[in-house]
Amino acid sequence: MNERTRVAIVGAGPAGLLLAHLLDREGIASIVIDSRSREEIESTIRAGILEQGTVEILHETAASTRVLEAGTRHDGIELRFAGAGHRIDFAETVGRGVWLYPQHEVLKDLIAARLAAGQDLRFGVSAVALDDVETSRPRVIARGPGGERIEIEADVVIGADGSRGVTREAVTGPHGGFYREYPFAWFGVLCEAPPSADELIYSSSPDGFALISQRSPTVQRMYFQCDPDDDPAAYSESELWDVLQSRVPGTTLHEGPIFQRDVLRFRSFVAHQLRRGRAILVGDAAHTVPPTGAKGMNLAVADVVLLSDALRALLLEADERPLDAYPDRALERIWKAQHFSWWMTSMLHVAPDASPFDRARQLGELRSVVGSAHGRAYLAEAYTGWPLAR
Ligand SMILES: Cc1cc2nc3c(=O)[nH]c(=O)nc-3n(C[C@H](O)[C@H](O)[C@H](O)COP(=O)(O)OP(=O)(O)OC[C@H]3O[C@@H](n4cnc5c(N)ncnc54)[C@H](O)[C@@H]3O)c2cc1C
Repeated sequence: MNERTRVAIVGAGPAGLLLAHLLDREGIASIVIDSRSREEIESTIRAGILEQGTVEILHETAASTRVLEAGTRHDGIELRFAGAGHRIDFAETVGRGVWLYPQHEVLKDLIAARLAAGQDLRFGVSAVALDDVETSRPRVIARGPGGERIEIEADVVIGADGSRGVTREAVTGPHGGFYREYPFAWFGVLCEAPPSADELIYSSSPDGFALISQRSPTVQRMYFQCDPDDDPAAYSESELWDVLQSRVPGTTLHEGPIFQRDVLRFRSFVAHQLRRGRAILVGDAAHTVPPTGAKGMNLAVADVVLLSDALRALLLEADERPLDAYPDRALERIWKAQHFSWWMTSMLHVAPDASPFDRARQLGELRSVVGSAHGRAYLAEAYTGWPLAR
């Protein structure tokens, strides 16, 4: 089956769907394919914190009509260490905020908007390769739900298929990119309980890190630092609560039935190249960050905002310069976010081989941040997100 569109997008995650939405507003047609079903995409629990710029773009472009009413604005976080909590006040330091609004709710909104506009979005269709990407007629080779071969020819193909997709290697070749693995992971739980705190608590205890986050008045998301090889099924519920409680001294967590658990490995990755001819990478296909800085989904949105402008110039004005500039411009923010994610991770977690010196130095670093207006401002500025290039 051979088809033709202007922009072929592999992956219906936040990156692929938002790009399709922004292009549609410019009258640029696209086809989005995803190997998973709509139900699976809409029920996968991932990120939860949206930067202010992400919320603004979702709201202003009507990509999400619910984010402002169903999301919860947070004007700060707490850093907890050495027996005391220290609030980083975003509103006071940088006059910005973040929203708690889960990624799967963003995806429900984006999918609904795309289908309501009659746009082409196909579930259960897996890309297997990209072809002719160095020409002006690149193609996505895919398999449909029944195994049938589908070829989509376009002016540009977009790799928005996340960190395990097929487009990354088609763009970077075998050399991949810059890569770093961490000697710890997050054990994440979802539980039915009321919130234990009004804002997120990032707690660095001698036994390891914990993050107390929320999802709704009745469902909470919490994480604790664990070994990357830990088996999610190996802990009883009471053992999980004991670990969580011990990592947040000073707060009594509201406990409730745990209905989902997973181990999330930590990686940092930036592709050596974001573009090969007419194939371009965005979102997790281009980069991965450890989740401590809440940057993953927000970085995907920032890529897409930049790329949608470049594609508009190329496809409506035959001006290729913004697309030529896209990799370098995107990489500026990507590396800032990589640094922030690495910094939050290394400042708050306890490495398995940490010496007493390392731990004492880490507490000195935390005190430097919370005790300085400039330290608090840097954290607040990065966490709430640098302005989007619009
Ligand atoms: C378990 C988990 C927890 C996370 N928690 C956080 C967090 O707390 N905070 C945070 O900021 N970030 C978090 N992240 C990262 C965040 O979710 C990602 O940065 C974000 O989803 C990136 O969006 P994306 O659209 O680039 O990629 P994705 O959301 O990964 O979307 C890619 C899509 O491509 C599809 N796809 C893959 N291969 C193919 C193929 N061959 N053909 C067709 N379709 C394909 C996939 O099915 C998927 O729907 C988490 C990630 C994971 C995996």
